[in-house]
Amino acid sequence: MKAVAVFPRTKEVRVIEHEVPHITEQGQVKLRMLDIGLCGTDKEICAFEYGTPPPGSDYLVIGHESLGEVIEVGPAASRVKVGDLVVTTVRRPCPHPECRPCRSGYPDFCTTGDYTERGIKGEHGFMTEYVVDDERYMHVVPPELRDVAVLTEPLTIAEKARDQTRQIMRRLPWLNSEIPEDMRGLSLTTVVLGAGPVGLLGAMALIVGGCDTYVYALAPAPNPSSDIVEAIGGKYLSQGKVSVETQKALFGHIHLVYEATGVSRLAFEVLKLLGPNSMFIVTGVPSLKAPIGVDADLLMRNIVLKNQIVFGTVNASSENFDEAINDIGVFHQRWPQSLRALITSRFSPEEAPGLLLGKIGGIKNVITVDSATSREH
Ligand SMILES: [Zn+2]
Ligand SMILES: [Zn+2]
Repeated sequence: MKAVAVFPRTKEVRVIEHEVPHITEQGQVKLRMLDIGLCGTDKEICAFEYGTPPPGSDYLVIGHESLGEVIEVGPAASRVKVGDLVVTTVRRPCPHPECRPCRSGYPDFCTTGDYTERGIKGEHGFMTEYVVDDERYMHVVPPELRDVAVLTEPLTIAEKARDQTRQIMRRLPWLNSEIPEDMRGLSLTTVVLGAGPVGLLGAMALIVGGCDTYVYALAPAPNPSSDIVEAIGGKYLSQGKVSVETQKALFGHIHLVYEATGVSRLAFEVLKLLGPNSMFIVTGVPSLKAPIGVDADLLMRNIVLKNQIVFGTVNASSENFDEAINDIGVFHQRWPQSLRALITSRFSPEEAPGLLLGKIGGIKNVITVDSATSREH
């Protein structure tokens, strides 16, 4: 079967012939891959910044944002059945007995760093025709979400952040008695930095949660991302175009920032604008460049005097995948067109190397595995 693979040693990215996987353990499930999302992580792997082939392989099949259809189940698999659509999680636990997060089912909090990630670190990914994995890593998607379910994995970042946020907000006892679980009705002013898929999905989650949401990005409006922001009831701000009224409305009044750009200078500039008892969630991973100057005294004063919290979040738990599938359903009901508009193009696997090595435009680009060419089970 074909697969899109990266060869770190020879610095190549190409479509290869890869061995078809078979079920070898009772709880395993075989999938025919349908959609695989491309993201910045894939681009960085293809720029050879990271990405580790499995032991004994000189290449890594990439792809971690996926949707597949179950075509075969092992004798002990009971949660999924043939014909189900599933999204498979990415990270697998490390082997160390002392890693309490991994031993408790939360490899997203792994402390040893020896976890593996499908399509990223030590295990082949999903940009291929067939995949076998344990059913415990698979999450069933309702059939009506077939076209958009590949957005589940990027949304899990916001779901994990929301879980953390809820727990952190318990530190504010006067809110506790009043906040319903989903934060609805609580008028928080939130700012999303970045209007890529992670930022826009985060904005959707915030707006569904009842937050007053601003999305800040480089590109001037109108553009496809600003159209989505406006359509879902957010406010789009672009570089250098933040009106004085908006600046006044936001300055010192932001309750929550969801950072999804990986631009450290921007993050630290916006950190200054946070209000009292607020939080700043960092999800972007900048490449390491030269140090930059930041207003450290002001930031430290604010963090202390305004009881602020800055936290980072990576990857997601199994629960977060279920929450994401649920929310994709909510977004799909509320904004069917905007949700679909996040997927700007679909390409064949043969086109993937060119996209990964070149400049990809659009919001979320998806590789669609053509079922007509998938014969061999
Ligand atoms: Zn990704
Ligand atoms: Zn671990």
